[in-house]
Amino acid sequence: MADDYTLDRELGRSETATVHLAHEAGPRGRLTRYALPPALASLLLIASATGLTAQRDDEFARRRRDMVDLIAGRDVSDAATLTAMRTVPRHEFVPPEYRGNAYGDFPLPIGYGQTISQPYIVAYMTEVLRPRAGMKVLEVGTGSGYQAAVLAAAGCEVYTVEIFEALATAARDRLAHLGYRGVTVRHGDGHFGWPEHAPFDAVIVTAAAGYIPPALIEQLKPGGRMVIPVGSVYGVQYLILVEKDARGQVTTRALIPVQFVPMLKGPR
Ligand code: SAH
Repeated sequence: MADDYTLDRELGRSETATVHLAHEAGPRGRLTRYALPPALASLLLIASATGLTAQRDDEFARRRRDMVDLIAGRDVSDAATLTAMRTVPRHEFVPPEYRGNAYGDFPLPIGYGQTISQPYIVAYMTEVLRPRAGMKVLEVGTGSGYQAAVLAAAGCEVYTVEIFEALATAARDRLAHLGYRGVTVRHGDGHFGWPEHAPFDAVIVTAAAGYIPPALIEQLKPGGRMVIPVGSVYGVQYLILVEKDARGQVTTRALIPVQFVPMLKGPR
C-alpha cells in the first residue's frame, strides 16, 4: 500500500516540477543563453508528461491484471465477466486520493457516505447475471459508474439509477469521457425501477434493500435474472438471486453473505 501511494506521489511531484521549468522559460526578457528555446522546452514538457502518463497507465494495467487474476483464482469463471473486468480502468472511478489503491480487493469511499464496491463482489454479481452482448440491464445504485461500465464492457445496454444527483451527474460525465456509450444514467429513486425502458433481461441492485421492490420484479422479463442484497443495514445481508421463469413464476435463492450501504428513499 505504501508503494502505491509512493508511485502516485512521485509521479505527481515530477509533473509539477516540469510545469514549473516550462513556466520559467516562458517570459521573453528572462531568457538567458543557457535557457532552452521555448519551443524545445514545450516539446520536452510534452514528451516528459506523455512518458509519465504511459508509465502510470502501464502500472495501472499491471495491477488490474493481477486483480482480475485473483478474482479468477477464486470462484468467478464467466469469460465475459472476466474479460470486461480486465478492460475497465477502476482507477478512473475512484477519487484521485485513492487511485493508488484502486486495484486492491476492497470497497473505497466515493463521497456522500457511499462506496465503490469491492471488485470481487462486482465480478460475482456480474457473473450471476450471465451478461451477454445486447442484453438490457437495469442497475439501481450507479455510484461511481464502475459496475455499469463493467456491464457495458460485456456488451450490455445499461440503464442505471442513482439517488444522489451529484453522484449521478459525476458518473454520467465520467462514463461519457471514458467512451462508455451503452450506459444511460438517471437521477432518481431506484425502488421504482425505470418503467420507460422496461422490461429488462437483468436487474442488479448495488445497495442493500429491506425487501425486494415489487416494481423491480415487475420490470424483469420472463426468463430474466435479478441480483439484490437484502437484509438489515448493520446486520446480516444476503445476496439474493431472483429468477422469473418463462411463465412469469418467481423464485428466490440466497447466495452469499455481503455488506452493502443501505438503499435509501427520497431524492437527494
Ligand atoms: N454500483 C456502484 C456502487 C454502489 S454504492 C459502483 O459501481 O460504484 C450504492 C449506491 O446506491 C450509492 O451510490 C447510493 O447513493 C445509491 N443508492 C442508494 N439508495 C438508492 C436508491 N433508492 N435508488 C438509487 N440509488 C440508490
